[in-house]
Amino acid sequence: MRQPYAICAQNIHKSYGKTKAVDGLSFVVKQAECFGLLGPNGAGKTTIMKMVYGKAERDARPEGVIDVLGFDPQYNPLNVRHILGVVPQEDNLDEELNVYQNLSLFAKFYGISGTAAKTAIGHLIEMMELSAHSKIRELSGGMKRRLTIARALLNDPKILILDEPTTGLDPQVRHMIWDKLRLMKKSGITMLLTTHYMEEAFQLCDNLIIMHKGQMVIEGQPRQLLQQSIEKYVLDIVNKDHAAEIGDCLNSPSIRADMSRETLHIYSDDIEALNEITTRLEPGDYFLRAANLEDLFIKATGRALDDAG
Ligand code: ADP
Repeated sequence: MRQPYAICAQNIHKSYGKTKAVDGLSFVVKQAECFGLLGPNGAGKTTIMKMVYGKAERDARPEGVIDVLGFDPQYNPLNVRHILGVVPQEDNLDEELNVYQNLSLFAKFYGISGTAAKTAIGHLIEMMELSAHSKIRELSGGMKRRLTIARALLNDPKILILDEPTTGLDPQVRHMIWDKLRLMKKSGITMLLTTHYMEEAFQLCDNLIIMHKGQMVIEGQPRQLLQQSIEKYVLDIVNKDHAAEIGDCLNSPSIRADMSRETLHIYSDDIEALNEITTRLEPGDYFLRAANLEDLFIKATGRALDDAG
């Protein structure tokens, strides 16, 4: 029988000197789901990933547990590496070798050779829409990413670890990578993904936690979180000086105003109330939109994602 979960982490702590990178974090990743670790830079996402794939040790006290399909990465790193594929933040590809040779080199590390290696590499090159003889230097950022993902899939992993898989890529390329990751999820691979792009988490994750300073601030399914934990709509008013013109509206019980940042954000489930406010503003001064996970993060922490401090 299948274990109900792929990864179970309980009460994980990790300090670097005085810095608490991870501060009592717990989460469970079910099999064949995509689970997201979200948060701004410095939230502790990469540190958690490293502990899951056995590259970093958690603090001994307070005691925590990490279980990856029955193995503790701290004590059984080899067993864990056999069932994991890791896509690190940097594409650490061998620039001297071409696409095929990069994959072939990794296949050897995994003990895959001969026809088995040829077949696996051919399949991955086709799936990732790459060309075997391209030189690494000639690849675009998106191609390098796809090659790094292909490399992580060589040993047919049960779990794929993706650290910021689309950071630095342009939106079109990002969408292509998302399509590839969806395909993998369909094939039954469990994915643990870190990102600071809320849209990426919304597109890919079945469940997620949003982290801040090593702790969990929000946990749940992205769509459900948006339905249950935040107003449906947001009116962004670019210049806070306009607050005076609409001041009386802000007292309405159907409205929540956040004036803590440059842009004035007015949240409400009542789209009519927000439309009414826009009639008092100049067209270029506002933006009316649906609330997203970033709004939820701001509501929970009082901070924006690019404001990690
Ligand atoms: P994220 O991946 O969310 O950006 P990290 O896990 O990389 O966050 O970092 C969390 C915190 O731990 C940060 O304050 C970072 O500076 C610190 N940190 C991470 N790795 C190290 C390290 N090897 N040595 C010292 N401090 C580190």
